[in-house]
Amino acid sequence: MKKMLALCVAMALSGCATADNGNYHASEKAKNIAQKYIIVDGHIDVPYRLQEKWVDVTQATQGGDFDYPRAVAGGLNAPFMSIYVPASLDNSPESTALAHRLIDYVEAIVGRAPDKFAIAKSVADVEQQFQQGLISLPMGMENGSPVQGSMDTLKQFYDRGIRYITLAHSMSNHISDSSYDLRRKWKGLSPFGKDLIVEMNNLGIMIDISHVSDAAFYQAVEISKVPVIASHSSLRSFTPGFERNMDDEMIKALGKNGGVIMINFGSTFVDPVSRAWRIEMGDKRKAVEEKFGRDSAQYQAFEKEYRETSPFPFSNVETVLDHIDHVVKLVGVDHVGIGSDYDGVGDSLPIGLKDVSTYPNLVQGLLDRNYSEADIEKLLGTNLIRVWREVEQYAAKN
Ligand SMILES: [Zn+2]
Repeated sequence: MKKMLALCVAMALSGCATADNGNYHASEKAKNIAQKYIIVDGHIDVPYRLQEKWVDVTQATQGGDFDYPRAVAGGLNAPFMSIYVPASLDNSPESTALAHRLIDYVEAIVGRAPDKFAIAKSVADVEQQFQQGLISLPMGMENGSPVQGSMDTLKQFYDRGIRYITLAHSMSNHISDSSYDLRRKWKGLSPFGKDLIVEMNNLGIMIDISHVSDAAFYQAVEISKVPVIASHSSLRSFTPGFERNMDDEMIKALGKNGGVIMINFGSTFVDPVSRAWRIEMGDKRKAVEEKFGRDSAQYQAFEKEYRETSPFPFSNVETVLDHIDHVVKLVGVDHVGIGSDYDGVGDSLPIGLKDVSTYPNLVQGLLDRNYSEADIEKLLGTNLIRVWREVEQYAAKN
């Protein structure tokens, strides 16, 4: 408790994060590295957090995983703001409107504090804003549904700053099958999805294969003329059967493609124990739903009560590092990055990586595992920047 109190004093600016970061303490060296190099995070769900409950993230906030003081403390420079649209809205005017509204939120953050944040639409923007001491807010769209089958709409989103699109989310959409959706409607990508990849290449929008089915991944890699990214995925070898993560063959294909997998921190993405807990809880909750219905008091109270008797087994920094190591072992250090999913995975974040102030803990772990500073720089940011630059260069020629 005493340690927690000291932490609260130290983090007075951030309103005291109550998250338990265990015994993880970054050295001065790790903290310096986090400040010195550009940290790009592939996926942070701030816009949808604001959609659900507005809060001013240019100041310290209670709760949530991201705000300005904590981002500065963690050395975060370019978090991709996720323009997330739920799968249920596929290919509807509502999905397009919601995406525009979420982009408005990102613009509003910058409008409120132009001395702290800036929209980044290019690698050059990120590098210049880093020099200026501003936090860049590049944007990625999670779920291509708002495109609504229109290349004109795609161009509108490009003009507003969308620089990657996650082709699908939790259900098959008009572009691609989803790993979570057992109906394999398209057996990969839809005919429009295949055309969309060509057009995204031409415009300079990165292709994000997180969430899609394996078949869609292989088709995307085949069609794309430039490397693709996984903005927030982890490794299936740690979570067998969980198609949302990438298996070793896919990682090898991604390496050959020149792409980058940005590791999702969520405990159930990285840790088999956390994953098993989630599956068991889900099965039991489903039984309660079938017996009493979704509106019942029993169903509503189920998860909270379950957690009291069977606490969620959080993962930790070491497990996330194991995922990074595994990618490096398979395809080398040029193809891995970080895609925390902060503000997107609820309270399932690992001990030691509870919010955007904790990147130095990850850096410490990399130092402890004998990663060189040059390699750490790559996986913190320049791997993604390399892909983004290749995508820009291809588009400039077309
Ligand atoms: Zn996601």
